[in-house]
Amino acid sequence: MIEPQQPPNNLNNERLALEALDMEALQRLAVERCHACIEQCAAHLKVAAPSAEILFNLRGRSAGQLKFQKVGRKRGFCLRYNASLFDRNRQAFFDEVIPHEVSHLFAYLAYGTSIKPHGKEWQYIMNEVFGLAARVTHDFEVPRQTRRLFNYACACDDKVHELTAIRHNRIQQNRANYRCRECEDILYEKVVEAS
Ligand SMILES: [Zn+2]
Ligand SMILES: [Zn+2]
Repeated sequence: MIEPQQPPNNLNNERLALEALDMEALQRLAVERCHACIEQCAAHLKVAAPSAEILFNLRGRSAGQLKFQKVGRKRGFCLRYNASLFDRNRQAFFDEVIPHEVSHLFAYLAYGTSIKPHGKEWQYIMNEVFGLAARVTHDFEVPRQTRRLFNYACACDDKVHELTAIRHNRIQQNRANYRCRECEDILYEKVVEAS
């Protein structure tokens, strides 16, 4: 008689379930995970949970990014994630990338914006609140066609301009400027934090 195969444990079930989701359901789950991390952090640090917009419009090499933005007259936060890296590294995003970015949000919130992005304040939150090692880099494979795009901002709210490496280098070397067609502002590279 053949022994029945060992049923997968809960963790494996969770992983398999994650792989089966379509992008919409996956992103919905990620938004929930973000909010849960924000609540966890707020409770631990005894601060009010800030509202944060969560988007999946980041391209290029970065897995996630924290951005400051104005919501009316109040300062707001935007957590941006790289949808294509997320799709191919689902579990890692839930386990590490999302807590990583939320830790940035609270590090700035609790300790001000003059701290180092991956300094002791951020490390403290990663370790103490999330029980995670404070790793800075990820080893996700980045597909070639999205490898060299750079995010630029203008005066428009939330608008992200994706510039090629050629344009990015021209700007960096002061050989060119590019303007937003809507607000006519000169584009600038505005990255608070990228990992
Ligand atoms: Zn604009
Ligand atoms: Zn980071």
